[in-house]
Amino acid sequence: MQRLKEILRKIDHRGYSAYQELKKRQFQFSTFELFFDHIQKDPFAPATKIRVRIPQDIAKFPGWTFKNRIRRVALEDFLLRELNTRSHRFSKKRGEGKSGAIFSYQPSQRVLERSAIHIDEKFLEARFFIGLPSRGRRILGNEAEAMVFYDISRLIRYSLFYENLVERDLERHIKTIEDAEYLRNRLNELGLVCFVANGSILPRRSGVDDHPMDSKKAIPFIAPKELESTIELPNYGAIKGMGIPEGVVLIIGGGFHGKSTLLRAIQDGIYNHIPGDGREFVVTVKQAIKIRAEDGRSIVGVDISPFISNLPQKVDTRNFTTENASGSTSQAANIIEAIEAGAKLLLIDEDTSATNFMIRDSKMRSLVPDDLEPITPFIDKVRPLFNDYHISTILVTGGSGEYLKVADSVICMQNYLPKDFTARVKKLGIEERGEGKFGLIRSRIPLKSSLNPEKRPGKTQAKAKGLKKVIFGPREIDISQVEQIVELGQSDAIANALVYIYRRLMDDKKTMSQIYKIVEHELVEKGVESFSTHPKPAHLAEFRILDFAFTLNRIRGL
Ligand code: ADP
Ligand code: MG
Repeated sequence: MQRLKEILRKIDHRGYSAYQELKKRQFQFSTFELFFDHIQKDPFAPATKIRVRIPQDIAKFPGWTFKNRIRRVALEDFLLRELNTRSHRFSKKRGEGKSGAIFSYQPSQRVLERSAIHIDEKFLEARFFIGLPSRGRRILGNEAEAMVFYDISRLIRYSLFYENLVERDLERHIKTIEDAEYLRNRLNELGLVCFVANGSILPRRSGVDDHPMDSKKAIPFIAPKELESTIELPNYGAIKGMGIPEGVVLIIGGGFHGKSTLLRAIQDGIYNHIPGDGREFVVTVKQAIKIRAEDGRSIVGVDISPFISNLPQKVDTRNFTTENASGSTSQAANIIEAIEAGAKLLLIDEDTSATNFMIRDSKMRSLVPDDLEPITPFIDKVRPLFNDYHISTILVTGGSGEYLKVADSVICMQNYLPKDFTARVKKLGIEERGEGKFGLIRSRIPLKSSLNPEKRPGKTQAKAKGLKKVIFGPREIDISQVEQIVELGQSDAIANALVYIYRRLMDDKKTMSQIYKIVEHELVEKGVESFSTHPKPAHLAEFRILDFAFTLNRIRGL
């Protein structure tokens, strides 16, 4: 502590680069250790990264708060939120540029394992960012001293010491997340792919605001009696809600009655949510993936023959490549790639689908015979997909009754509330469509040379640009349509994992699915940090293999 003061006094008023003297150093404070992992180049450059380590005999987190993985993840998430909200209060302008700023990684409504906070029996470690103060590029030593010794010390004490937290809130956080995780783990044995608890608030404030809609306006979810199940949770006891069974499930209903809102909540149910979100107990199997049309995407060497064959000019659809996919080919490739990456549930909204991929009605079938139509629509494959691969589908449709022929369950949204229409549809006596086979899919081997992450020789570049793009070597990967990547820390972690597979796994022998399996194993065993290209990252978040696969598949020239 004394040493840090001396350095700050010594470099006071010197040029900004004198701050580099702090780089990679550690200082012992009375209640924590402070590490300077990265020092910014100038007051406007990416901020300085610091790390504090608090011994547990000072932080004093009781064992119950982190006794298993999910509790630990929930606790770390809670602490990050404390740190994040309080840092806004301690952050202030202490000169030019970022001078005086204190901030952490910004979490979304989901609870994820992240690299910003780590806790175990011995230590609590927090990683975050500060702007070292200067004016006219001259170091303001006094300001830096006040910032570290006053603001940061208090920030740490208030947000990371157990005794200063509201125990009731922490307990609710941990118990809610643990219950949600338990619920998700039970789905399979109950024959369900999703559970939506009664009382859930599904609609969001707006398309760009993920907070729940105002409770005065939002209609809480209530399960129809026929689909109601009761599940006993370890912390909060019995909970009632709608269980969505495996198989082919349709969500129908008039426009504006809440179909897409329900589907979006289902697709977000792969994640656990913070208390108060409204979707705490909207829980979906982890391997659920949103499938949409995505014209313009690149497709490389994908076997789309189950859906598309006999193209004019004998284009080989068992090894299909295009720089500029159409709506139908992109949707077909999305499904094949999802199967390759282990998907168990496909989520499809007619709003974002290619009509000619989804259906072909009888009039069209009689006019254009099957052997002149390269596309076998999804309606012919949705049942075989379940029979042959045990992959379920939840499909939103308002415009066409064709899918009633292949549905196991039909949910009709009326004024934002679900009704079970399964029996009513059966009574209509609609002729069911034949079963058929889904067909085999060829596996692919990605070539190492096509994934080089070097921007120029010796200079690796792999980082996310928001949620829309990943910069990877000389290329940009468009992930704007990969809807289930929801935090910046995930897209960044995926970028890092791509470097990892390039360096460690790709050997021109392993197939895509083999690579996915190894990445998944690493993720479970060692956590997201094991992919990091930098030591002690402060901004990574866990991701799913499916989203990793979807990113990899969007690399042009793979
Ligand atoms: P659909 O897909 O059936 O056309 P949407 O899901 O897009 O309908 O919903 C239409 C509108 O209704 C949206 O603006 C949405 O925010 C709102 N909404 C959806 N569910 C609810 C609800 N439970 N309570 C209040 N408003 C809702
Ligand atoms: Mg809709």
